[in-house]
Amino acid sequence: MILPDIMNAMVLEKQGEALYYKQVPLPYPQSKQVLVKVVACGVCRTDLHILDGELSNPKLPLIPGHEIIGRVVSTGDDVSLVKTGDFIGIPWLGYTCGKCKYCLQNKENLCENALFTGYTLNGGYAEYTVADERYCFGLSSVYANAAGAPLLCAGLIGYRCYKMMGENISNIGLYGFGAAAHIVIQMAVFQNKKVFAFTREGDVETQKFATKLGAVWAGASNEAPPCMLDAAIIFAPAGNLVPAALRNVDKGGVVVCGGIHMSDIPSFPYNLLWGERIIRSVANLTRKDGEEFLKLAPAIPVKTETQLFNLQQANEALEALRKGHIQGAAVLIMP
Ligand SMILES: [Zn+2]
Ligand SMILES: [Zn+2]
Repeated sequence: MILPDIMNAMVLEKQGEALYYKQVPLPYPQSKQVLVKVVACGVCRTDLHILDGELSNPKLPLIPGHEIIGRVVSTGDDVSLVKTGDFIGIPWLGYTCGKCKYCLQNKENLCENALFTGYTLNGGYAEYTVADERYCFGLSSVYANAAGAPLLCAGLIGYRCYKMMGENISNIGLYGFGAAAHIVIQMAVFQNKKVFAFTREGDVETQKFATKLGAVWAGASNEAPPCMLDAAIIFAPAGNLVPAALRNVDKGGVVVCGGIHMSDIPSFPYNLLWGERIIRSVANLTRKDGEEFLKLAPAIPVKTETQLFNLQQANEALEALRKGHIQGAAVLIMP
């Protein structure tokens, strides 16, 4: 295959600004890296947090995007896990040091020296990208297309959040019914759990979408569900949902905050936490999460709902996501 010298990409030059459609040099795979022709790249709320400056110190200029599906077109030195022609998924976690105290405790998601795709490494809003083969995932052939892209973050982070709710739970609350929740509900229903979906007030469309996917109840985030929840996950970046969720979670239950950024959490009476309720965050992913989830997803099978945009429409996709106009997940597809 003859590779071009330049490629089209959507580039962030300065936080607070829109992305620019530009031609940039084709990246070259270093040792342990593969060059990937991107097929599709999901658009995640984290991308908005990076654009808006809520996450500081990105690599600049930056090609965002960390839900990448692509085909390996060439390899750097010492590549042994994947080969040219393989379809792979590239997630948010792009590198860990293997030496810090977190890595040594099998908590590589907390690595002090981690690098993240589409944040401190270039990502997938481009025709090509490079990735360290040790952090890529092999994909079931059913996901080697745009429908697979949301699995790489919404799916993986959703899965980690799902695990953090604990064992022996049956009533689950999902606050913010976007890309991650629409995947988590499929896992939950598959395991015979009851899902209660909470959306923005008046967002009847999304409530219908949740019901279609198997939610036993769907309503606004300020409403009370018909029964107490055993656990809840908050995917929306709104801190006021923390006391709202605690209010609906039963004794001993967990409220998992799944986003990388959230507005401040308002103060609330201690009795909402009393009764051994737990609030916790989920940060990043481990490769083990990815392997487990990508094995589970085709068995369910998880089907993603996607809204497709061309690469040049990345800014529109991001704005649609910001306004809550995406049902399921937004995905960029490459020419
Ligand atoms: Zn480390
Ligand atoms: Zn993400």
